[in-house]
Amino acid sequence: MSKLGCTCGHVITDQTDGLPYKASLLRDEVENEFWDEVHRELKPLVEAAESGDKAAIADAFGEFSPWFSAADKLQDRISSLYIRRMSSAYECQSCGRLWVQKDDSERFVSYVPEEGAYGAILAVASGGSENLN
Ligand SMILES: [Zn+2]
Repeated sequence: MSKLGCTCGHVITDQTDGLPYKASLLRDEVENEFWDEVHRELKPLVEAAESGDKAAIADAFGEFSPWFSAADKLQDRISSLYIRRMSSAYECQSCGRLWVQKDDSERFVSYVPEEGAYGAILAVASGGSENLN
């Protein structure tokens, strides 16, 4: 999604990273499957790295790869698992509506906040780590 028109008329745009009004959602029903899939991707590489055996690394990745390339390939695999399992949620910065992506669909469903205003609930709390000191 690059743009989502909110009911209030505001257009929610998603054209960059690090948006304070966007989050990813991992449904509990697939959380274990997701982590199992990540583990299945990581295990052969970790075992190959521990062995120091280039043939084992080649087996894990289907071809011989220099380390940086193997790391890139692993990142691609994990990214695709992540994209397949995660849904997106957006918070309208104008009215505060929360838009949640339906599972396995490009459709979004909205929820109106009790306060009736933007609450930055998907943003990282500012100064949170400083307050711990
Ligand atoms: Zn809105």
